[in-house]
Amino acid sequence: MKTTQLLIPTQKEAPNDAQIISHQLMIRAGLISKLASGLYSYLPMGVRILKKVENIIREEMDKAGSQEVLMPVTQPAELWQESGRWQEYGPELLRFNDRHGRDFCLGPTHEEVITNLAAQYIRSYKQLPMSFYQVQTKFRDEIRPRFGVMRSREFIMKDAYSFHLDQASLQQTYDTMHQTYCNIFDRLGLDYRPVLADSGSIGGDASHEFHVLADSGEDAICFSDESDYAANIEKVAFSKMEATCTPKAQQESVLTKKKTNIDEVAEFLSVEKSSCIKTLIIKVADGFKALALRGDHELNEIKAQNLFGEFELASDEDIKSLGLKKGFIGIKGLNIELIVDYSASVLCDFVCGANEWDQHIIGVNWQEVEFSEADLRNAVEGDPSPDGQGKLVIKRGIEVGHIFQLGDKYSKAMNSNVIGEAGKAVTTTMGCYGIGVTRVIAASIEQNHDARGIIFPEAIAPFQVVIVPINYNKSTRVKDLADSLYQQCLEVGIEVLLDDRKERAGIMFADSELLGIPHRIVLSDTHADNGKVEYKARNQSDKVEVDYEQALSFIQSKLN
Ligand code: ATP
Ligand code: MG
Repeated sequence: MKTTQLLIPTQKEAPNDAQIISHQLMIRAGLISKLASGLYSYLPMGVRILKKVENIIREEMDKAGSQEVLMPVTQPAELWQESGRWQEYGPELLRFNDRHGRDFCLGPTHEEVITNLAAQYIRSYKQLPMSFYQVQTKFRDEIRPRFGVMRSREFIMKDAYSFHLDQASLQQTYDTMHQTYCNIFDRLGLDYRPVLADSGSIGGDASHEFHVLADSGEDAICFSDESDYAANIEKVAFSKMEATCTPKAQQESVLTKKKTNIDEVAEFLSVEKSSCIKTLIIKVADGFKALALRGDHELNEIKAQNLFGEFELASDEDIKSLGLKKGFIGIKGLNIELIVDYSASVLCDFVCGANEWDQHIIGVNWQEVEFSEADLRNAVEGDPSPDGQGKLVIKRGIEVGHIFQLGDKYSKAMNSNVIGEAGKAVTTTMGCYGIGVTRVIAASIEQNHDARGIIFPEAIAPFQVVIVPINYNKSTRVKDLADSLYQQCLEVGIEVLLDDRKERAGIMFADSELLGIPHRIVLSDTHADNGKVEYKARNQSDKVEVDYEQALSFIQSKLN
Protein backbone atom coordinates (compact mmCIF):
# COMPACT_ATOMS: atom_id res chain seq x y z
CA MET A 1 0.00 0.00 0.00
CA LYS A 2 1.00 3.61 -0.36
CA THR A 3 1.36 5.93 2.59
CA THR A 4 -0.73 8.70 1.01
CA GLN A 5 -3.71 6.33 0.89
CA LEU A 6 -3.50 5.44 4.55
CA LEU A 7 -4.41 7.07 7.83
CA ILE A 8 -1.23 6.80 9.91
CA PRO A 9 -1.52 9.72 12.35
CA THR A 10 1.94 9.58 13.91
CA GLN A 11 2.71 12.16 16.54
CA LYS A 12 5.78 13.49 18.31
CA GLU A 13 4.33 13.65 21.79
CA ALA A 14 2.51 11.05 23.84
CA PRO A 15 -0.58 12.09 25.84
CA ASN A 16 -0.11 12.77 29.56
CA ASP A 17 -2.06 9.72 30.68
CA ALA A 18 0.28 7.35 28.84
CA GLN A 19 2.51 6.10 31.64
CA ILE A 20 4.14 3.10 30.04
CA ILE A 21 6.12 2.91 26.85
CA SER A 22 3.75 0.64 24.93
CA HIS A 23 0.84 3.00 25.55
CA GLN A 24 2.93 5.99 24.48
CA LEU A 25 4.19 4.28 21.34
CA MET A 26 0.82 2.86 20.30
CA ILE A 27 -0.62 6.38 20.37
CA ARG A 28 2.44 8.02 18.82
CA ALA A 29 2.63 5.46 16.00
CA GLY A 30 -1.07 6.00 15.23
CA LEU A 31 -2.13 2.44 16.03
CA ILE A 32 -4.92 3.34 18.44
CA SER A 33 -6.99 6.33 19.44
CA LYS A 34 -8.65 6.90 22.79
CA LEU A 35 -12.41 7.30 22.79
CA ALA A 36 -13.01 7.37 26.55
CA SER A 37 -11.44 5.83 29.63
CA GLY A 38 -10.51 2.23 28.77
CA LEU A 39 -12.06 2.44 25.30
CA TYR A 40 -9.86 2.57 22.21
CA SER A 41 -10.40 2.60 18.47
CA TYR A 42 -7.96 0.64 16.36
CA LEU A 43 -6.73 2.67 13.41
CA PRO A 44 -5.67 1.02 10.13
CA MET A 45 -2.13 0.14 11.25
CA GLY A 46 -3.44 -1.17 14.55
CA VAL A 47 -5.96 -3.37 12.76
CA ARG A 48 -3.26 -4.86 10.53
CA ILE A 49 -1.31 -5.86 13.64
CA LEU A 50 -4.41 -7.15 15.38
CA LYS A 51 -5.31 -9.35 12.40
CA LYS A 52 -1.86 -10.88 12.38
CA VAL A 53 -2.01 -11.73 16.05
CA GLU A 54 -5.51 -13.16 15.60
CA ASN A 55 -4.45 -15.25 12.61
CA ILE A 56 -1.56 -16.84 14.49
CA ILE A 57 -3.90 -17.65 17.35
CA ARG A 58 -6.54 -19.07 15.00
CA GLU A 59 -4.05 -21.24 13.12
CA GLU A 60 -2.71 -22.79 16.31
CA MET A 61 -6.15 -23.25 17.90
CA ASP A 62 -7.38 -24.93 14.70
CA LYS A 63 -4.31 -27.19 14.78
CA ALA A 64 -5.20 -28.13 18.36
CA GLY A 65 -8.59 -29.29 17.10
CA SER A 66 -10.62 -26.48 18.65
CA GLN A 67 -13.66 -25.25 16.71
CA GLU A 68 -14.26 -21.56 16.12
CA VAL A 69 -17.61 -20.13 17.22
CA LEU A 70 -18.82 -16.59 17.81
CA MET A 71 -21.06 -15.79 20.75
CA PRO A 72 -22.91 -12.54 21.52
CA VAL A 73 -21.30 -9.84 23.62
CA THR A 74 -24.69 -9.20 25.20
CA GLN A 75 -25.76 -11.92 27.60
CA PRO A 76 -29.09 -12.47 29.38
CA ALA A 77 -29.03 -12.36 33.19
CA GLU A 78 -30.82 -15.71 33.44
CA LEU A 79 -27.67 -17.58 32.44
CA TRP A 80 -25.65 -15.77 35.07
CA GLN A 81 -28.32 -16.43 37.68
CA GLU A 82 -28.12 -20.12 36.81
CA SER A 83 -24.36 -20.22 37.33
CA GLY A 84 -24.64 -18.09 40.46
CA ARG A 85 -22.36 -15.37 39.10
CA TRP A 86 -25.05 -12.70 38.74
CA GLN A 87 -24.64 -12.29 42.53
CA GLU A 88 -20.95 -13.19 42.80
CA TYR A 89 -19.52 -10.95 40.10
CA GLY A 90 -18.65 -7.46 41.29
CA PRO A 91 -19.09 -4.09 39.58
CA GLU A 92 -16.77 -5.18 36.74
CA LEU A 93 -19.87 -6.79 35.26
CA LEU A 94 -21.71 -4.10 33.33
CA ARG A 95 -25.42 -4.77 33.79
CA PHE A 96 -28.24 -3.07 31.93
CA ASN A 97 -31.87 -3.42 30.90
CA ASP A 98 -33.37 -3.73 27.48
CA ARG A 99 -36.56 -1.88 26.46
CA HIS A 100 -38.67 -4.56 28.14
CA GLY A 101 -36.86 -4.08 31.41
CA ARG A 102 -35.08 -7.44 31.17
CA ASP A 103 -31.64 -7.74 32.76
CA PHE A 104 -28.58 -8.20 30.58
CA CYS A 105 -24.84 -7.83 30.93
CA LEU A 106 -21.92 -7.25 28.61
CA GLY A 107 -19.86 -10.43 28.63
CA PRO A 108 -16.59 -10.19 30.57
CA THR A 109 -16.10 -13.90 29.72
CA HIS A 110 -18.31 -16.60 28.20
CA GLU A 111 -18.49 -19.68 30.45
CA GLU A 112 -22.24 -19.25 30.87
CA VAL A 113 -23.04 -18.93 27.17
CA ILE A 114 -20.84 -21.82 26.06
CA THR A 115 -22.07 -24.13 28.82
CA ASN A 116 -25.63 -23.32 27.80
CA LEU A 117 -24.73 -24.24 24.20
CA ALA A 118 -23.07 -27.47 25.30
CA ALA A 119 -26.08 -28.38 27.44
CA GLN A 120 -28.29 -28.01 24.36
CA TYR A 121 -26.19 -29.68 21.70
CA ILE A 122 -23.73 -32.12 23.22
CA ARG A 123 -25.79 -35.15 24.15
CA SER A 124 -23.61 -38.23 24.09
CA TYR A 125 -20.26 -39.17 25.59
CA LYS A 126 -19.29 -40.16 22.04
CA GLN A 127 -19.10 -36.48 21.08
CA LEU A 128 -16.54 -35.76 23.79
CA PRO A 129 -14.01 -34.31 24.21
CA MET A 130 -14.93 -31.18 22.29
CA SER A 131 -13.52 -27.69 22.43
CA PHE A 132 -14.60 -24.31 21.10
CA TYR A 133 -12.94 -20.95 20.77
CA GLN A 134 -13.81 -17.45 19.69
CA VAL A 135 -11.96 -14.20 19.10
CA GLN A 136 -14.28 -11.60 20.44
CA THR A 137 -14.81 -8.37 22.33
CA LYS A 138 -15.09 -8.51 26.11
CA PHE A 139 -16.20 -5.79 28.46
CA ARG A 140 -15.00 -5.47 32.05
CA ASP A 141 -15.73 -2.28 33.91
CA GLU A 142 -12.21 -2.22 35.37
CA ILE A 143 -11.81 -0.10 38.48
CA ARG A 144 -8.58 1.40 37.14
CA PRO A 145 -8.38 1.19 33.36
CA ARG A 146 -4.83 2.16 32.43
CA PHE A 147 -1.81 1.53 30.27
CA GLY A 148 -3.84 1.86 27.06
CA VAL A 149 -5.02 -1.49 25.74
CA MET A 150 -3.02 -3.33 28.40
CA ARG A 151 -5.83 -2.85 30.91
CA SER A 152 -8.78 -1.45 29.05
CA ARG A 153 -12.47 -1.87 29.68
CA GLU A 154 -13.31 -3.14 26.22
CA PHE A 155 -10.74 -5.55 24.80
CA ILE A 156 -10.43 -8.51 22.48
CA MET A 157 -9.92 -11.93 23.96
CA LYS A 158 -9.46 -15.34 22.45
CA ASP A 159 -11.43 -17.50 24.83
CA ALA A 160 -11.78 -21.24 24.54
CA TYR A 161 -13.73 -23.85 26.47
CA SER A 162 -13.48 -27.62 26.48
CA PHE A 163 -15.92 -30.33 27.57
CA HIS A 164 -14.95 -33.78 28.81
CA LEU A 165 -16.28 -37.00 30.20
CA ASP A 166 -13.65 -37.19 32.91
CA GLN A 167 -10.63 -35.55 34.51
CA ALA A 168 -8.14 -37.61 32.50
CA SER A 169 -9.57 -36.29 29.25
CA LEU A 170 -9.56 -32.73 30.59
CA GLN A 171 -5.92 -33.10 31.60
CA GLN A 172 -5.06 -34.24 28.08
CA THR A 173 -6.70 -31.22 26.43
CA TYR A 174 -5.24 -28.95 29.10
CA ASP A 175 -1.76 -30.21 28.20
CA THR A 176 -2.48 -29.71 24.50
CA MET A 177 -3.61 -26.14 25.19
CA HIS A 178 -0.51 -25.51 27.28
CA GLN A 179 1.61 -26.55 24.28
CA THR A 180 -0.63 -24.58 21.88
CA TYR A 181 -0.11 -21.45 23.97
CA CYS A 182 3.65 -21.98 23.88
CA ASN A 183 3.44 -22.32 20.08
CA ILE A 184 1.38 -19.12 19.82
CA PHE A 185 3.64 -17.03 22.05
CA ASP A 186 6.75 -18.43 20.31
CA ARG A 187 5.35 -17.39 16.94
CA LEU A 188 4.47 -13.96 18.34
CA GLY A 189 8.14 -13.57 19.27
CA LEU A 190 7.48 -12.96 22.95
CA ASP A 191 9.83 -13.64 25.84
CA TYR A 192 7.30 -15.36 28.12
CA ARG A 193 7.03 -17.92 30.89
CA PRO A 194 4.21 -20.28 31.80
CA VAL A 195 3.74 -20.04 35.57
CA LEU A 196 1.58 -21.81 38.11
CA ALA A 197 -1.46 -19.73 38.93
CA ASP A 198 -4.02 -19.70 41.68
CA SER A 199 -6.78 -22.17 40.93
CA GLY A 200 -9.02 -21.22 43.84
CA SER A 201 -11.27 -24.02 44.99
CA ILE A 202 -10.13 -26.40 42.24
CA GLY A 203 -6.67 -26.62 43.79
CA GLY A 204 -3.63 -28.49 42.55
CA ASP A 205 -1.75 -27.42 39.45
CA ALA A 206 -4.99 -26.87 37.61
CA SER A 207 -4.15 -23.41 36.33
CA HIS A 208 -1.27 -21.73 34.51
CA GLU A 209 -0.78 -18.16 33.44
CA PHE A 210 1.48 -17.10 30.59
CA HIS A 211 3.45 -14.02 31.47
CA VAL A 212 5.49 -11.77 29.26
CA LEU A 213 8.46 -10.57 31.27
CA ALA A 214 8.60 -6.78 31.49
CA ASP A 215 9.38 -4.30 34.24
CA SER A 216 6.05 -2.58 33.67
CA GLY A 217 4.15 -5.84 34.41
CA GLU A 218 1.44 -5.62 37.04
CA ASP A 219 2.07 -9.15 38.37
CA ALA A 220 4.94 -10.49 40.44
CA ILE A 221 6.28 -13.85 39.28
CA CYS A 222 8.50 -16.06 41.41
CA PHE A 223 11.20 -18.23 39.86
CA SER A 224 13.56 -20.69 41.52
CA ASP A 225 17.21 -19.85 40.90
CA GLU A 226 17.96 -23.59 40.62
CA SER A 227 14.95 -25.41 39.16
CA ASP A 228 12.27 -24.58 36.61
CA TYR A 229 9.70 -23.80 39.31
CA ALA A 230 7.76 -20.66 38.32
CA ALA A 231 4.57 -19.36 39.89
CA ASN A 232 2.54 -16.22 40.25
CA ILE A 233 3.33 -14.75 43.66
CA GLU A 234 -0.32 -15.36 44.53
CA LYS A 235 0.23 -19.07 44.18
CA VAL A 236 3.57 -19.67 45.95
CA ALA A 237 2.62 -21.93 48.85
CA PHE A 238 4.55 -22.30 52.10
CA SER A 239 4.35 -25.17 54.56
CA LYS A 240 4.29 -25.21 58.31
CA MET A 241 7.73 -24.77 59.86
CA GLU A 242 9.35 -26.00 63.06
CA ALA A 243 10.32 -23.35 65.61
CA THR A 244 14.06 -23.38 66.16
CA CYS A 245 14.30 -20.80 68.94
CA THR A 246 13.45 -20.93 72.64
CA PRO A 247 11.93 -17.96 74.44
CA LYS A 248 14.37 -16.18 76.73
CA ALA A 249 13.56 -12.51 76.86
CA GLN A 250 11.85 -10.67 79.66
CA GLN A 251 8.51 -9.25 78.56
CA GLU A 252 8.03 -5.55 78.82
CA SER A 253 5.65 -2.83 77.64
CA VAL A 254 7.26 0.13 75.97
CA LEU A 255 5.93 3.54 75.12
CA THR A 256 5.83 3.88 71.32
CA LYS A 257 3.97 7.13 71.02
CA LYS A 258 2.75 7.86 67.48
CA LYS A 259 4.70 4.86 66.12
CA THR A 260 1.79 3.25 64.37
CA ASN A 261 3.40 1.28 61.57
CA ILE A 262 5.97 -1.50 61.51
CA ASP A 263 8.71 0.61 59.93
CA GLU A 264 8.45 3.26 62.63
CA VAL A 265 8.19 0.76 65.48
CA ALA A 266 11.15 -1.33 64.28
CA GLU A 267 13.31 1.74 63.81
CA PHE A 268 12.32 3.25 67.15
CA LEU A 269 13.04 0.01 69.05
CA SER A 270 16.13 -0.80 66.94
CA VAL A 271 14.87 -4.24 65.97
CA GLU A 272 14.45 -5.93 62.60
CA LYS A 273 10.98 -5.80 61.08
CA SER A 274 11.25 -9.58 60.85
CA SER A 275 11.18 -9.82 64.64
CA CYS A 276 7.97 -7.81 64.88
CA ILE A 277 4.45 -9.17 64.45
CA LYS A 278 1.77 -7.16 62.71
CA THR A 279 -1.85 -7.97 63.40
CA LEU A 280 -4.47 -7.28 60.73
CA ILE A 281 -8.18 -7.39 61.39
CA ILE A 282 -10.35 -8.62 58.55
CA LYS A 283 -14.09 -8.61 58.16
CA VAL A 284 -15.52 -11.87 56.82
CA ALA A 285 -19.09 -12.97 56.15
CA ASP A 286 -19.79 -13.89 59.79
CA GLY A 287 -17.68 -11.43 61.78
CA PHE A 288 -14.03 -10.56 62.28
CA LYS A 289 -10.73 -12.42 62.38
CA ALA A 290 -7.23 -11.37 63.42
CA LEU A 291 -4.34 -12.35 61.16
CA ALA A 292 -0.76 -12.18 62.42
CA LEU A 293 2.18 -11.87 60.03
CA ARG A 294 5.85 -11.16 60.35
CA GLY A 295 6.50 -7.42 60.11
CA ASP A 296 8.41 -7.76 56.85
CA HIS A 297 5.74 -9.92 55.17
CA GLU A 298 2.59 -8.94 53.31
CA LEU A 299 -0.82 -10.59 53.42
CA ASN A 300 -1.59 -12.63 50.31
CA GLU A 301 -5.17 -11.68 49.62
CA ILE A 302 -5.83 -14.64 47.35
CA LYS A 303 -4.73 -17.10 50.03
CA ALA A 304 -6.88 -15.29 52.59
CA GLN A 305 -9.83 -15.37 50.22
CA ASN A 306 -9.38 -19.09 49.58
CA LEU A 307 -9.33 -19.66 53.35
CA PHE A 308 -11.98 -17.25 54.60
CA GLY A 309 -14.09 -16.39 51.55
CA GLU A 310 -14.74 -12.82 50.46
CA PHE A 311 -13.27 -10.43 53.01
CA GLU A 312 -12.17 -6.86 53.50
CA LEU A 313 -9.83 -5.12 55.91
CA ALA A 314 -11.69 -3.89 58.98
CA SER A 315 -12.48 -0.18 58.96
CA ASP A 316 -11.40 2.22 61.72
CA GLU A 317 -14.96 2.00 63.06
CA ASP A 318 -14.85 -1.81 63.09
CA ILE A 319 -11.54 -1.77 64.96
CA LYS A 320 -12.95 0.61 67.52
CA SER A 321 -16.05 -1.52 67.97
CA LEU A 322 -13.83 -4.50 68.83
CA GLY A 323 -12.19 -2.45 71.56
CA LEU A 324 -8.90 -2.35 69.65
CA LYS A 325 -6.52 0.56 69.08
CA LYS A 326 -5.51 1.16 65.49
CA GLY A 327 -1.72 1.15 65.16
CA PHE A 328 -1.25 -0.71 68.43
CA ILE A 329 -3.08 -3.97 67.78
CA GLY A 330 -1.33 -7.04 69.20
CA ILE A 331 -1.99 -10.71 69.79
CA LYS A 332 -2.81 -10.66 73.50
CA GLY A 333 -6.32 -10.22 74.83
CA LEU A 334 -8.09 -10.42 71.48
CA ASN A 335 -11.67 -11.56 71.64
CA ILE A 336 -11.74 -12.80 68.04
CA GLU A 337 -10.15 -15.80 66.34
CA LEU A 338 -6.41 -15.42 65.72
CA ILE A 339 -4.74 -17.05 62.72
CA VAL A 340 -0.97 -16.85 62.50
CA ASP A 341 1.12 -17.16 59.36
CA TYR A 342 3.48 -20.16 59.34
CA SER A 343 6.60 -18.02 59.31
CA ALA A 344 5.30 -15.77 62.10
CA SER A 345 4.39 -18.66 64.38
CA VAL A 346 8.02 -19.77 64.67
CA LEU A 347 9.25 -16.44 66.09
CA CYS A 348 10.40 -16.07 69.68
CA ASP A 349 10.67 -12.96 71.84
CA PHE A 350 8.99 -10.73 69.28
CA VAL A 351 7.54 -7.25 69.34
CA CYS A 352 3.82 -6.62 68.83
CA GLY A 353 1.18 -4.07 69.67
CA ALA A 354 0.00 -3.96 73.30
CA ASN A 355 -3.67 -3.40 72.48
CA GLU A 356 -3.26 -0.17 74.46
CA TRP A 357 -2.80 3.32 73.03
CA ASP A 358 0.83 4.25 72.35
CA GLN A 359 2.26 0.96 73.55
CA HIS A 360 3.99 -2.07 72.13
CA ILE A 361 5.27 -5.13 73.98
CA ILE A 362 8.72 -6.63 73.55
CA GLY A 363 9.70 -10.20 74.38
CA VAL A 364 6.31 -11.69 73.48
CA ASN A 365 5.88 -15.43 72.80
CA TRP A 366 3.10 -17.51 71.29
CA GLN A 367 2.64 -19.70 74.38
CA GLU A 368 0.54 -16.94 75.88
CA VAL A 369 -2.32 -17.05 73.37
CA GLU A 370 -4.55 -19.46 71.49
CA PHE A 371 -4.31 -19.47 67.74
CA SER A 372 -4.35 -21.59 64.61
CA GLU A 373 -1.77 -21.49 61.82
CA ALA A 374 -2.07 -21.01 58.07
CA ASP A 375 -0.16 -19.97 54.98
CA LEU A 376 -1.14 -16.31 54.71
CA ARG A 377 1.72 -14.38 53.19
CA ASN A 378 3.23 -13.38 49.87
CA ALA A 379 6.60 -14.79 48.92
CA VAL A 380 9.59 -12.47 49.15
CA GLU A 381 12.87 -12.56 47.24
CA GLY A 382 15.20 -15.17 48.75
CA ASP A 383 12.44 -17.41 50.15
CA PRO A 384 13.15 -21.11 49.65
CA SER A 385 11.54 -22.42 46.47
CA PRO A 386 8.50 -24.58 47.34
CA ASP A 387 9.91 -27.46 45.26
CA GLY A 388 12.86 -27.66 47.65
CA GLN A 389 15.37 -26.53 45.04
CA GLY A 390 17.01 -23.13 45.27
CA LYS A 391 15.75 -19.73 46.29
CA LEU A 392 13.04 -17.54 44.81
CA VAL A 393 13.80 -14.63 42.50
CA ILE A 394 10.95 -12.21 41.76
CA LYS A 395 10.33 -10.60 38.37
CA ARG A 396 7.52 -8.54 36.89
CA GLY A 397 5.17 -10.09 34.34
CA ILE A 398 2.27 -9.14 32.07
CA GLU A 399 -0.43 -11.82 32.03
CA VAL A 400 -1.17 -12.51 28.36
CA GLY A 401 -2.79 -15.91 28.73
CA HIS A 402 -4.49 -18.05 31.30
CA ILE A 403 -5.54 -21.71 31.18
CA PHE A 404 -7.73 -23.22 33.83
CA GLN A 405 -9.30 -26.56 34.73
CA LEU A 406 -12.82 -25.63 35.75
CA GLY A 407 -14.05 -29.04 36.83
CA ASP A 408 -17.86 -29.16 36.98
CA LYS A 409 -18.48 -25.68 38.44
CA TYR A 410 -20.48 -24.49 35.41
CA SER A 411 -21.55 -27.80 33.88
CA LYS A 412 -23.21 -28.86 37.14
CA ALA A 413 -24.97 -25.55 37.76
CA MET A 414 -26.13 -25.32 34.15
CA ASN A 415 -26.91 -28.98 33.46
CA SER A 416 -24.33 -29.74 30.83
CA ASN A 417 -24.84 -33.51 30.90
CA VAL A 418 -24.23 -36.26 28.38
CA ILE A 419 -25.49 -39.80 28.25
CA GLY A 420 -22.53 -41.83 29.44
CA GLU A 421 -21.37 -45.25 28.28
CA ALA A 422 -23.57 -46.97 30.85
CA GLY A 423 -26.63 -45.08 29.65
CA LYS A 424 -26.73 -42.74 32.65
CA ALA A 425 -26.42 -38.97 32.62
CA VAL A 426 -22.89 -37.73 33.37
CA THR A 427 -22.01 -34.11 34.18
CA THR A 428 -19.29 -32.85 31.84
CA THR A 429 -15.92 -31.62 33.12
CA MET A 430 -14.68 -28.34 31.68
CA GLY A 431 -11.55 -26.37 30.95
CA CYS A 432 -11.19 -22.75 29.85
CA TYR A 433 -8.35 -21.01 28.05
CA GLY A 434 -7.91 -17.27 27.43
CA ILE A 435 -5.50 -15.01 25.59
CA GLY A 436 -5.63 -11.22 25.79
CA VAL A 437 -5.32 -10.52 22.07
CA THR A 438 -5.10 -6.74 22.37
CA ARG A 439 -2.89 -6.98 25.46
CA VAL A 440 -0.45 -9.15 23.49
CA ILE A 441 0.27 -6.21 21.18
CA ALA A 442 1.07 -3.89 24.08
CA ALA A 443 3.18 -6.60 25.74
CA SER A 444 5.14 -7.14 22.54
CA ILE A 445 5.91 -3.42 22.36
CA GLU A 446 7.04 -3.39 26.01
CA GLN A 447 9.64 -5.97 25.00
CA ASN A 448 10.52 -4.62 21.56
CA HIS A 449 11.27 -0.91 21.32
CA ASP A 450 14.09 1.62 21.38
CA ALA A 451 14.39 5.38 21.55
CA ARG A 452 13.05 5.71 17.98
CA GLY A 453 9.95 3.62 18.47
CA ILE A 454 8.57 0.13 18.08
CA ILE A 455 10.64 -2.80 16.77
CA PHE A 456 7.93 -5.23 15.71
CA PRO A 457 8.82 -8.86 15.14
CA GLU A 458 8.04 -9.65 11.51
CA ALA A 459 5.17 -11.95 12.50
CA ILE A 460 3.01 -9.07 13.67
CA ALA A 461 4.47 -5.96 12.01
CA PRO A 462 1.90 -3.89 10.07
CA PHE A 463 4.11 -4.22 6.97
CA GLN A 464 7.17 -6.37 6.36
CA VAL A 465 9.00 -3.83 4.23
CA VAL A 466 8.88 -0.07 3.72
CA ILE A 467 10.30 1.59 0.63
CA VAL A 468 11.41 5.17 1.26
CA PRO A 469 12.14 6.96 -2.04
CA ILE A 470 13.80 10.35 -1.62
CA ASN A 471 12.36 12.99 -3.97
CA TYR A 472 9.71 10.59 -5.21
CA ASN A 473 7.59 13.52 -6.29
CA LYS A 474 10.37 15.37 -8.13
CA SER A 475 12.64 12.74 -9.67
CA THR A 476 10.89 10.59 -12.24
CA ARG A 477 13.86 8.25 -12.17
CA VAL A 478 13.50 7.64 -8.43
CA LYS A 479 9.75 7.31 -8.84
CA ASP A 480 10.04 4.74 -11.62
CA LEU A 481 12.58 2.65 -9.73
CA ALA A 482 10.59 2.81 -6.49
CA ASP A 483 7.31 1.98 -8.22
CA SER A 484 8.88 -0.94 -10.01
CA LEU A 485 10.45 -2.39 -6.85
CA TYR A 486 7.14 -1.88 -5.07
CA GLN A 487 5.34 -3.82 -7.85
CA GLN A 488 7.90 -6.60 -7.72
CA CYS A 489 7.36 -6.95 -3.98
CA LEU A 490 3.58 -7.01 -4.36
CA GLU A 491 3.78 -9.66 -7.05
CA VAL A 492 5.64 -12.09 -4.79
CA GLY A 493 3.26 -11.39 -1.90
CA ILE A 494 5.49 -9.21 0.25
CA GLU A 495 3.58 -6.81 2.49
CA VAL A 496 5.17 -3.59 1.41
CA LEU A 497 4.50 0.05 2.18
CA LEU A 498 5.65 2.69 -0.30
CA ASP A 499 6.17 6.06 1.34
CA ASP A 500 5.04 8.26 -1.53
CA ARG A 501 4.58 11.41 0.54
CA LYS A 502 6.12 14.77 -0.27
CA GLU A 503 8.00 14.70 3.02
CA ARG A 504 11.59 15.23 4.05
CA ALA A 505 13.60 12.00 4.27
CA GLY A 506 14.04 12.52 8.02
CA ILE A 507 10.31 12.50 8.61
CA MET A 508 9.79 9.39 6.50
CA PHE A 509 12.60 7.58 8.33
CA ALA A 510 11.27 8.63 11.72
CA ASP A 511 7.73 7.46 10.93
CA SER A 512 8.76 4.05 9.65
CA GLU A 513 10.99 3.58 12.69
CA LEU A 514 8.24 4.68 15.05
CA LEU A 515 5.90 2.15 13.40
CA GLY A 516 8.48 -0.58 13.76
CA ILE A 517 8.52 -1.87 10.18
CA PRO A 518 11.26 -4.54 10.21
CA HIS A 519 12.91 -3.87 6.80
CA ARG A 520 13.59 -0.55 5.06
CA ILE A 521 14.75 0.17 1.52
CA VAL A 522 15.90 3.70 0.67
CA LEU A 523 16.16 4.89 -2.92
CA SER A 524 17.58 8.25 -4.03
CA ASP A 525 19.08 9.81 -7.15
CA THR A 526 22.55 9.09 -5.78
CA HIS A 527 21.64 5.45 -5.32
CA ALA A 528 20.17 5.43 -8.80
CA ASP A 529 23.41 6.82 -10.24
CA ASN A 530 25.21 3.79 -8.83
CA GLY A 531 22.46 1.29 -9.60
CA LYS A 532 21.99 0.64 -5.87
CA VAL A 533 19.42 0.76 -3.07
CA GLU A 534 20.14 1.05 0.62
CA TYR A 535 18.85 -1.57 3.05
CA LYS A 536 18.50 -1.32 6.81
CA ALA A 537 16.89 -3.67 9.31
CA ARG A 538 14.89 -1.94 12.05
CA ASN A 539 16.67 -3.94 14.74
CA GLN A 540 20.17 -3.29 13.44
CA SER A 541 22.18 -0.13 13.12
CA ASP A 542 24.21 -0.81 9.98
CA LYS A 543 23.05 -0.03 6.45
CA VAL A 544 24.08 -1.96 3.37
CA GLU A 545 24.03 -1.07 -0.31
CA VAL A 546 22.52 -3.64 -2.62
CA ASP A 547 22.37 -3.71 -6.43
CA TYR A 548 18.98 -2.50 -7.58
CA GLU A 549 18.69 -5.57 -9.79
CA GLN A 550 19.22 -7.82 -6.75
CA ALA A 551 16.98 -5.81 -4.42
CA LEU A 552 13.95 -8.11 -4.55
CA SER A 553 15.88 -11.32 -3.94
CA PHE A 554 17.84 -9.56 -1.20
CA ILE A 555 14.61 -8.52 0.53
CA GLN A 556 13.25 -12.03 0.16
CA SER A 557 16.36 -13.46 1.78
CA LYS A 558 15.80 -11.19 4.76
CA LEU A 559 12.19 -12.25 5.31
CA ASN A 560 11.37 -15.19 7.52
P1 ATP B 1 -5.91 -9.53 35.11
O1 ATP B 1 -5.41 -10.33 36.31
O2 ATP B 1 -4.83 -8.91 34.32
O3 ATP B 1 -7.03 -8.59 35.46
P2 ATP B 1 -7.62 -11.72 34.55
O4 ATP B 1 -6.92 -12.81 35.26
O5 ATP B 1 -8.80 -11.10 35.17
O6 ATP B 1 -6.57 -10.59 34.13
P3 ATP B 1 -8.64 -13.60 32.64
O7 ATP B 1 -10.02 -13.67 33.13
O8 ATP B 1 -7.70 -14.71 32.94
O9 ATP B 1 -8.00 -12.20 33.09
O10 ATP B 1 -8.72 -13.28 31.07
C1 ATP B 1 -7.88 -13.88 30.06
C2 ATP B 1 -6.91 -12.88 29.47
O11 ATP B 1 -7.54 -11.68 29.03
C3 ATP B 1 -5.87 -12.39 30.46
O12 ATP B 1 -4.82 -13.32 30.58
C4 ATP B 1 -5.42 -11.08 29.83
O13 ATP B 1 -4.41 -11.31 28.88
C5 ATP B 1 -6.66 -10.58 29.13
N1 ATP B 1 -7.29 -9.47 29.89
C6 ATP B 1 -7.97 -9.56 31.05
N2 ATP B 1 -8.41 -8.36 31.44
C7 ATP B 1 -8.00 -7.47 30.51
C8 ATP B 1 -8.16 -6.06 30.34
N3 ATP B 1 -8.82 -5.33 31.21
N4 ATP B 1 -7.60 -5.47 29.24
C9 ATP B 1 -6.93 -6.22 28.34
N5 ATP B 1 -6.76 -7.55 28.44
C10 ATP B 1 -7.28 -8.17 29.51
MG1 MG C 1 -6.24 -14.54 34.65
